[in-house]
Amino acid sequence: MSTNKPKHIAIYGKGGIGKSTTTSNISAALAEAGHRVIQIGCDPKSDSTTILRGGEDLPTVLDSLRDSGRPTIADVSAIGFGGVLCIEAGGPVPGVGCAGRGINAAVDLLHELKLFEEFKPDYVLYDVLGDVVCGGFAVPIRNGIAESAFVVTSSDFMAIFAANNLFKAISKYAPSGGARLGGVIANSIQTPYASALIDDFASRTGTNVVGYVPRSLTVAQSELYGQTVIEAAPTSEQADVYRQLARHIAGDHPVSIPKPLNAPALKQWAKQWGDRVFGGAAERRLVEVV
Ligand code: SF4
Repeated sequence: MSTNKPKHIAIYGKGGIGKSTTTSNISAALAEAGHRVIQIGCDPKSDSTTILRGGEDLPTVLDSLRDSGRPTIADVSAIGFGGVLCIEAGGPVPGVGCAGRGINAAVDLLHELKLFEEFKPDYVLYDVLGDVVCGGFAVPIRNGIAESAFVVTSSDFMAIFAANNLFKAISKYAPSGGARLGGVIANSIQTPYASALIDDFASRTGTNVVGYVPRSLTVAQSELYGQTVIEAAPTSEQADVYRQLARHIAGDHPVSIPKPLNAPALKQWAKQWGDRVFGGAAERRLVEVV
């Protein structure tokens, strides 16, 4: 099935938080539902699409640009599970250049090669490293590349901090045509407090949680086979969680401009949660010492 105009969606998240796993499972679920999907990894680690491709290597766009000058689509893409077209933007030579400019160069090349006209995707998912939403990594949301963005976060403070930074970038660029926020994907949920904390952060920032992904051994097991959960464990509850997320993203999801917390408010909010979780200031001091 192919609609006329593809939806371009960016998925951000702090490194190691599960954004590539989440994005790949969403891509796989969309493909399973009959959609044409492109996933573009925008993380210099270049491992965004690995579990869609059985763990095989894939030359990155930036490496191919450096090596051969003008690669073809076939040089820098591979068909993964369910027909998902997998592309890795790649990163600069370590110590040289800007990863963000690399994302721009990669997307420009894909446009020049008329990838979107020829592949005719329904959805293009950009998997973007969100540790520091600097000008470089803000490229997908500020240059009219993506229409909406989602953020994957766990209840860890640094993941929330990264999500709040993305909200700052969106609130800066959205009024002049940049992407708006589709919502928060709560990942690695293991305890009731984790979902309550993420709910509270979303509510304080005028956003909403669009899905709760439990921490699951099925994910780790599937990754050992170089596969998504949709491929390796299609009848599992975890697969259904990703399918539900994919349906939300595929639908006409509401978007908004978030209201990020300033630095002191974010710290104060975190301390209040520390008191709730650890039972008060005395325990907090103990935790600080430990
Ligand atoms: S703009 Fe961002 S990606 Fe580019 S060099 Fe600076 S920190 Fe790195």
